[in-house]
Amino acid sequence: MSYQTTWNLSRYFYTGLDDPKLVLDIGNILPSSQAFAQKYQETFPKFETPEQILEFYADYTQFSHDLATPSYYLFYRSSLDTQDLEVTKRMWEVDYIYNEASNLLLFIAQWWKEIGYERILAWSEDPKLALYKNDLVSTADSLKYILSEKEEYVLNIKSRPLGLAGSLHDELTGSYEFRMQIDGVEKILTEEEVRSYRQHPERTLREASYLALRDVYNTKQNQISLGNIYTTIVKDWSSEIKMRNYSENVMAQRNLSEEMDDEVVDMLLSEVEKAYPLYVRFLKAKAKILCIEKDFSIWDVWAPLGKSEKEFTFSEAYDLHLSVMKDFDTDFYNYSIEMIEEGRIDALPRPGKRGWAFASYRKGEPSFVLLNFTGKLRDVSTISHELGHAIHGHLSQIQEAPVYDSPLSLAETASIFSEMLLGEKVKSLVSKEEYKEYLNERLWDIFATIFRQVQYVTFEREVHNQIHSGSELTYKDLNRLWRIEQEKMNQGVVLYDREAEDESGWSMIPHIFHTPFYCYAYAFGNLLTFALYNKVQDGSLSKEQYKDILRAGGSERPRDLLGRYGIDIASSDFYTSGLREVEKMVEEFEVLV
Ligand SMILES: [Zn+2]
Repeated sequence: MSYQTTWNLSRYFYTGLDDPKLVLDIGNILPSSQAFAQKYQETFPKFETPEQILEFYADYTQFSHDLATPSYYLFYRSSLDTQDLEVTKRMWEVDYIYNEASNLLLFIAQWWKEIGYERILAWSEDPKLALYKNDLVSTADSLKYILSEKEEYVLNIKSRPLGLAGSLHDELTGSYEFRMQIDGVEKILTEEEVRSYRQHPERTLREASYLALRDVYNTKQNQISLGNIYTTIVKDWSSEIKMRNYSENVMAQRNLSEEMDDEVVDMLLSEVEKAYPLYVRFLKAKAKILCIEKDFSIWDVWAPLGKSEKEFTFSEAYDLHLSVMKDFDTDFYNYSIEMIEEGRIDALPRPGKRGWAFASYRKGEPSFVLLNFTGKLRDVSTISHELGHAIHGHLSQIQEAPVYDSPLSLAETASIFSEMLLGEKVKSLVSKEEYKEYLNERLWDIFATIFRQVQYVTFEREVHNQIHSGSELTYKDLNRLWRIEQEKMNQGVVLYDREAEDESGWSMIPHIFHTPFYCYAYAFGNLLTFALYNKVQDGSLSKEQYKDILRAGGSERPRDLLGRYGIDIASSDFYTSGLREVEKMVEEFEVLV
């Protein structure tokens, strides 16, 4: 059958920018924040009973839900057309109003501080507040880092210009133009277009795309700008550690927000680093297939193995996804049907539409998925991946808003799990050649989402440590540090196109600018999913138990939640058995070669 492939936003939100309801909702943000502040400013610190906390939570979650609706709508609209200036303008106006509103609500953190650690922790044990337990525990844990209201106010106001460093990176790199010779003609391309040539079957084009990227990123002006933007962000992070008295571990702030213990994160990083030889085996096998064992270069790392013939229409692809879900579980199947039938998947690429793919969900609302489906086997995996997120968001609806969102370390579970289910099916459908290509891409993905993310984080950790202890780093220093981390992973099998001091790769990674150390959550999520997948396959975890883990949302710390199902994320066994799965796939790939 053929499916509806566009979002039906007017069904869920507003009829357009001029919908009077949208204007009204935006106009309400500040007054309702004022009313909320007025209601609780005096009474909050005098709370005695769990019933009062319950009422506060109910009020607060309803209020924040209503407040956020316009920004969700504007975000979805701008995703459909990033070039719509009216939408962009309205989005920034609303963002400014939110910043004003958040200043009005600074008192909440102060009153929690006033109430104090012991009392909040006691409330977290009260059965009447059981649904909010994890939020109360995290609130209690965060108290010691909250400064006075005046200090927080200054930081909040200052955070806007400081936030510019991050958007300066986007704006600057977004303005870059890249020149490439294609079929004898010089073309001007965007970064996404140039990058896509890194996967081109023709080696000369892959090389040209690398050189085109370097030609722009490696100019002295850009290196100076990007280097200073990055060290400014690192210095700001470092000053936050000092101001708020976080532990001297430069990653502590991130670990706290992801609800991960420091020693668990350290173990994740070191276990993955120990497995880097698997990546080398993969590259060597690939060099053999491509017959370039002598001079396997940095631009061959992304090479495809051949030309995959298989193309899907969106309907075929979605049917394939549905058949996989049907075999697995009725909830997964039904929600996938609902998503497509009710206009919550925007499937096809269009000029101006946001690139890549995402799923978006929040408490009390249905999920939305955006795709840029082009008919490749990869795109079918992406459907299952994003629908996995959508279903996760649906299952955790049983949680209350403050504990609805799972920490990032758990957020990639259902998505990767669904992709793995699809992989099994694909294996039975495609030819041996096509499967080899599929495995090549799958492994590439795994190395990108586990190994390379760890490499980013170990680079960040080194830079942050040096700057936090008072060293000054130039862009050349950053380049050299980047090469050291790269070489840990490549171990001499890859030829580089330039010297270490010109290695500007770090400056192309938006995450390290926007959310320091965020990348390890992807590595963790992937390894965790291998463990869960195996447990479901061998029957030691029932499907309902797996769904219960998804239903838990953010209601429990990952270590406790997973511990209840026999997964000990603080043991090295957990990581080695996940990495053993990668090894099995590498072995399979080597045999195909
Ligand atoms: Zn994802």
